[in-house]
Amino acid sequence: MWDLRADTFGILVLAACLSAASAADSLAQSQAPRGPESTIDVLGYRVAVDVGPDADEFRASAEIRFLVTVEGAEWVGFDLVGLTVDSVAVDGTRAGHELTGERLLVELGRSAGVGDTVVVQVYYGGAPEDGLIFSDNHNGRPTVFADNWPDRARYWFPGVDHPSDKATVEFRVRAPRDWRVVAVGELREVIDTEDGTRLWIWATDRPIPVYTMVLGAGELVERELGTSGCDVETSPCVHVTQWTYPEDEEHLLRLFRRAPEMVAFFDSLIGPFPYEKLALVQSSTRFGGMENSSAIFLTERVGRMQSADGLLAHEIAHQWFGDAVTEREWPHVWLSEGFATYFSSVFFELVDGADVGAASRARSESSYLRSDYVARPVIDVEPENLFRVLNGNSYQKGAWVLHMLRSSLGDETFFAGIRRYYSDHLHGTALSADFQKIMEETSGEDLGWFFEQWLYRPGYPEVEVAHYWDPGERVLHVYVRQIQPWGAFRFPLDLQVEGDGYSLRRTFEVRDPASAFEWELPGAPQRVAADPDNEILGPVDVVN
Ligand SMILES: [Zn+2]
Repeated sequence: MWDLRADTFGILVLAACLSAASAADSLAQSQAPRGPESTIDVLGYRVAVDVGPDADEFRASAEIRFLVTVEGAEWVGFDLVGLTVDSVAVDGTRAGHELTGERLLVELGRSAGVGDTVVVQVYYGGAPEDGLIFSDNHNGRPTVFADNWPDRARYWFPGVDHPSDKATVEFRVRAPRDWRVVAVGELREVIDTEDGTRLWIWATDRPIPVYTMVLGAGELVERELGTSGCDVETSPCVHVTQWTYPEDEEHLLRLFRRAPEMVAFFDSLIGPFPYEKLALVQSSTRFGGMENSSAIFLTERVGRMQSADGLLAHEIAHQWFGDAVTEREWPHVWLSEGFATYFSSVFFELVDGADVGAASRARSESSYLRSDYVARPVIDVEPENLFRVLNGNSYQKGAWVLHMLRSSLGDETFFAGIRRYYSDHLHGTALSADFQKIMEETSGEDLGWFFEQWLYRPGYPEVEVAHYWDPGERVLHVYVRQIQPWGAFRFPLDLQVEGDGYSLRRTFEVRDPASAFEWELPGAPQRVAADPDNEILGPVDVVN
């Protein structure tokens, strides 16, 4: 997701006016987190909804197919808020239910055991308070867009509204005939119904997080942006389309033109694109962009932006990280946001040039150093407000953790580990320890210290480097002090020295609050630079 409050790693200018309203809105409306439903594992949802200009006419049914994961289950629970349930059936037979305000409890009518598959059908309706947003777009036309992140799917369909329980989904959306409907997965069927509406069936058979299970409907225009990988045997053929308001169609066709190139880049760097297609959808999402699996929703204000490359690269990278490999628990959300932030900068680095990547990292570093979260670790306790996980730690520091890991392991090992992490956890979930394990196995190194200091401890190193040239010994004495309040960090420190007729670089391993090194040189150095490529998160200053 592209949080409008954050100045992210990418390269773009977002209209500043976007941020304030969104942030206040987000903080006011987010829900306290709920842990995963432990008694079931959802396999698939089939959600049928009627949508039109009026939210009060929202009628729906949801079929939830799940495995029972405990012995002797007699009731199961789903997250559902603010709607009215007419009836419930279990395996085709009408069943008892209770609405608690936040949960729908369903009586199974029997004692179910581990591994039993059960199908629950829920017939419901009402005017969704959140999650499925009925609103007029900036051209004054009615639209309906889902906006689920982080746990707002519960306002429009019952389910296990937590990233640990991924599932397949089918949306059967009945909408006015002059509307078009876009959703996750592939378009299976479009049927004109006798009542003058049109039924759109979109479905994916790949498990995706509930927070990306979305649909959008309104007067939308679909245009092809290009294809990716169609001429490569080992790669899936991905059609990239845009779904926009008619007024913004031509502008967005130009603004989104690099999207197929980005898909091809990540496809070759990380692994095959995970979904059936990729749609870029102009929408009412409260975020700058939301990485819904195979249907990225972008703020409708992209219609007025001059560049969206950074935003697109971030959301497209999420298709691999966050969507296809999902953080199992919210405190590990850097596996989604830090990865998307970093890999979008890798796109610009490797496609547009190293200096573009370096500039992106520098912006990200200063953004992190200015953030309110430096005194907290990346993996924090479960925050009371999930919108607070969108912070400088999850995004910018998370991205820097990956960059420092890459600097330390080298490109070949780092990207080999990334590819393995992706293929091992494709369509599943992961915790930080899963990522650490794969990077350790790929590199053959114990990286416990690295992940411990960067993810579980707060802060960053503040480094002062002093030096003294001994002309008799022809030795440069280097003194490194770490002055931050969070304890000493361990990192490789590059020094670059230039003197009469020479220019040399050497890496010193720093571990302690104060270290001293000696370096024999051909002559007196005229210039000493520390961390010249900015490979360390935090300030590194030469103080003499
Ligand atoms: Zn993101």
